Amino acid sequence: MRYIEPHAHMISRVTDDYAAMVTAGCRAVCEPAFWAGFDRSSAQGFYDYFCQLTDYEPRRAAQFGLPHYSWLCLNPKEAENLSLANDVLAMIPAFLDRPNVLGIGEIGLNKNSRNEVAVFEKQVDLAVRYDQMILVHTPHLEDKWKGTRLIVDVLKNNRGIDPARVIIDHVEEHTVDVVLDAGFWAGITLYPQSKCTPARAIDMVEVYGAQRIWLNCACDWGQSDPLAVPKTALEMKRRGHSEEAVDRLVYENPIQFLSQNPKFQLDEIGWEDKCRAAQK
Ligand SMILES: [Zn+2]
Repeated sequence: MRYIEPHAHMISRVTDDYAAMVTAGCRAVCEPAFWAGFDRSSAQGFYDYFCQLTDYEPRRAAQFGLPHYSWLCLNPKEAENLSLANDVLAMIPAFLDRPNVLGIGEIGLNKNSRNEVAVFEKQVDLAVRYDQMILVHTPHLEDKWKGTRLIVDVLKNNRGIDPARVIIDHVEEHTVDVVLDAGFWAGITLYPQSKCTPARAIDMVEVYGAQRIWLNCACDWGQSDPLAVPKTALEMKRRGHSEEAVDRLVYENPIQFLSQNPKFQLDEIGWEDKCRAAQK
């Protein structure tokens, strides 16, 4: 089996997880910027985080021959502090040329508050201004449907947005059609306790088809499984789907979306050299 892990918060995982993912067939991992499990006390904390995502973490993954990519932004959970948000947003453009940065993400909404929407709009503008792809986080549980509608409305109201270059993540049965019908890509997140199980994910693929859908584990510092994607691929095979159909969902689809940024390459890239060159 081969697969891409398009959404994993590797900085909060142990190095053994990298070894397990590569052993299971992972060919590239992408890490969107998100909440660290605690609120950072200053913009400087985000500066250090962005350095970690664009320098240290790709080098840690490179020990296993695994290309590591990142997305940068201020996450919605820390968007309530508008002055902090402005400081962090001002810092992002300087990082966009780093060799492993694919775009702006994961931006979006958490509690659908007014400040979250304002900061989301600013980050969508930032992405358009710098011609960046976008990865969107949608709220949990009871806030999900309303939040997903709000997100789709903001994106559709921005004339600079090409839906084919935007993935809206953490879709569930009641939001996947909202996302796909508007022309965006949809991410299904596999979690042991909340979000989707392998069975629910494959049910959705059977209902809606596999076009413009990817699977991810979104593993982080909470209860999550870095091998959720290959385990779900096994569930798909168990149901009688062909090798080709599984490969399309877990490997070809993420490549199709991510390759819209020419930086995304699967070959053994000399990350050490690239990171060092970027810092000069
Ligand atoms: Zn995430």
